[in-house]
Formats: sequence, structure tokens, C-alpha cells
Amino acid sequence: MAFTRIKGTQDFLDLSLYNFFIKKAKDHMRLYHFSEIATPLIEPVELFQRSLGEQSDIISKEMFLIASGENKEEHICLRPEGTAPAVRAFIENNIQQTPWKVFLYGPMFRYERPQKGRYRQFQQFSMEVIGSAAIAQDAQFIKMLERLFHETLHFNNFTIDLNFLGCLDDRIVYRDVLYQFLTSPKAADICETCKVRREKNIMRVFDCKSPVCQEIYKNAPYIADHLCSDCASEWQELQDELDLLSVSFSYRPSLVRGLDYYSKTVFEFSSGLLGAQNAFCGGGRYDMLAKELGAKEDQPSIGAAIGIERLLLLLEIMKDHLPIEQEPALHLIIPLGAEQKKLGLLLADELQAQGLVADILLEGASVKSMMREANKMGAAYCLLLGEDEQKTGTITVKNMVTGAQESVAQIDVVSYLKK
Ligand code: AMP
Repeated sequence: MAFTRIKGTQDFLDLSLYNFFIKKAKDHMRLYHFSEIATPLIEPVELFQRSLGEQSDIISKEMFLIASGENKEEHICLRPEGTAPAVRAFIENNIQQTPWKVFLYGPMFRYERPQKGRYRQFQQFSMEVIGSAAIAQDAQFIKMLERLFHETLHFNNFTIDLNFLGCLDDRIVYRDVLYQFLTSPKAADICETCKVRREKNIMRVFDCKSPVCQEIYKNAPYIADHLCSDCASEWQELQDELDLLSVSFSYRPSLVRGLDYYSKTVFEFSSGLLGAQNAFCGGGRYDMLAKELGAKEDQPSIGAAIGIERLLLLLEIMKDHLPIEQEPALHLIIPLGAEQKKLGLLLADELQAQGLVADILLEGASVKSMMREANKMGAAYCLLLGEDEQKTGTITVKNMVTGAQESVAQIDVVSYLKK
């Protein structure tokens, strides 16, 4: 029986775009004074239950749980996102220096219905500023992302949606206002799912895909119109500072994002080139999370996650225009007979020790078939070793692009190739 991949996972056989993105993103983050951290793929389930909220899609239906402990009675989980682990690491490692500006990347796991741009194992590149209440931080953070996509990765085709969810008090007030609307005759025709959301996780109604619901919500009260005076002036400040930094954004009053921990600023980057799953980066402020996860003091924070697979779909579209590093030249050693194999092995070893990419053909039938193989492998140079070469201490070096051939003394071959 042949095995197949687990549903919702992928094999990556060419990582050139992935590596290009990771390198660019890391360099970019360092410019903004972020450092890299790595946290485990497995975490306690409660970490996410406490942070994302029991009613979030992730907790209610998408967690990958692993039974653990001696009697398999405990549960740990595969991490579904990177923010809660970063905050856990901040608290657990007793970080004193704030703001703590960090980034991490790697696989995340959610039991979702797989489709283009949505997988059960996917990768995020996420970044956090933990311990900074200043709204100017949010403006700089969004600018940092915009510059990464626009200037570093040369994307033109994306939009930034922005909303402001206010503080906890604002949300308590707003929930009542929204509840009144949703139970009024104006909202009589909302779908059954939205009726459940209305009772359990009210702001999520705005995520509904039904056109009937969306039409109704055009007349809903929006939270940005129900902010306390402090939050209202922060919301204004954020918009002014984004203008100052020349960041174009659209106010999307229905943008609430699915997780409980967000407050104040929330944003999403999306591209029409991606189809239904069009958001490739999302984030926001999470001022109450650290305390929720056991910190002694509040640590107002902001973070975001880039969906790497979706970003790669965008890079794929424009890869011909990207400065992707060429693979270094391959030097292929071809022993023409069984007697030359040992010499070939030694030669390959020497080239590799000197930092040249080298491979050796050990299973060729004829010279012709070996040269064909060399072409398929994309060799830049073939190093032919036959009886004559062995006797005279030379190698025939063939340039596979020009076809030119030259006899070189074995002891000189490294310096010849390095030239
Ligand atoms: P979230 O952690 O849900 O805010 O997601 C942040 C970003 O991660 C999204 O904008 C997507 O680009 C990406 N993402 C989230 N879930 C998935 C998934 N199941 N498959 C692929 N990418 C995802």
C-alpha cells in the first residue's frame, strides 16, 4: 500500500520562494529592532482556551489534541497560532525589558476544511510587541508590514482594512447596543448561525458569509461609533499617524477578527489575487492577554501573523520579477570507467572541502547517457575522468553552457574552477 499525505497538509519540493521570503522577512524585522524566538509546537490546551476564547472557531472545533500523561488523561495540543505562546514565553522567562519585540515562524495546526489557501498544517510568520501601550506603536507596526509587502516583496495588489474595537468597557457597552439591534425587527431575517453567535459571541456575526445577513449588518451599529473619549482620541491618533507615514488603509467597521483577545486596533492585509481566502496577514492589539495568562501586571501589546502559504501564492504570481538567488554552479564528476570511481570520490571530496558544489555520477552506462544525465541535473561543469586522464594526472573540464572543453592538471582543478 502506498501512503498519502494527511488531509490538509502539503509537501514542499521547491523551497526557493519560501527561503526567499523568510530571508527577506527576517532582515526586515531586524531593521525594526525585532529579535527571533522559537517556541514549542506543543503547548498546554488551556493556554489557547484562555486566550482565544471557548467560542472561537479554533477552540470550539479546530484544535489538534494529543492525549498525554501516564494514563493518557491529560491533553496537550499542537499550537494553532503564535501569539499566546509568545506571551507565555514572555511571562515564563520573566522578561523585564519592554517593549519585547520578537518574531517567530513555523507550522501551526487547525482542523479546518481544507481548500486553496486553507490547510490543517500551515505556516505563519508572526511578530509581537509585548509591553507597549502607545498607539503610535500600532502605526509603526502597520507601516512595518506595509513596507515589507510593498517595498521589499514588491506587492502592489493589496489592501489594508482597519478597525478599532475600543477597550473592555467600550465592548461591554457596545455588546448591549448590538444585541438590541440584532433582536429588533430590522434584524429578523439573520441566519440561524448568527442567532447562535448573537447569544454566545456577538461580534462574530459580522464574519457571516450570508448575503442576507451582510445586507442587514450594513445598518448595524458599529463599535467605532461607540468608543469612550480616550479610545476615540486613540482611534483618531492612529488614523492621523498612518496618514503621516503614508499608509493607505480602509476603515472596515465590520472587521472584528475571530479571537477574544483583541482590543482597540485590528487590521487585515488582503489581496484580490488570492480568491476566497484573500487575507494573507492579520493582527491587532491585545492589551489584556498577558494578565489573562497569569502575568502580574497588564502588558499592552500588538501583534500580527502572516500566512506564509498565501504569501507564497502571491510570490509565485510574480516570481519572474523577484531577485531570487541563483543556485550555485554544480560541478559534476563523471568517472568514465569503474577504475576511475575512487579517484572521482577523492576529487568530489576535495571540491566539497573547498566550498564548491559537487556531485558524482556513479551509475552511468555509457558516456552519452551520462552526459544526458548531466544536462538533466543542470550541471554547469562536467569533470570527466577516463583512463587517459588517470594516467596523465589531468581532468577534462567541460563547460556545459559553451560546450568548451579543457584539460586541467588534477592538482590545479580547484583553483581553475574557482576562477
Ligand atoms: P489568524 O491567526 O487566524 O489571524 O491568521 C493569520 C493569517 O494566517 C491569515 O490571514 C492567513 O493568511 C493565515 N491562515 C490562517 N489560517 C490558515 C489556514 N488554515 N491555512 C493557511 N493559512 C491560514
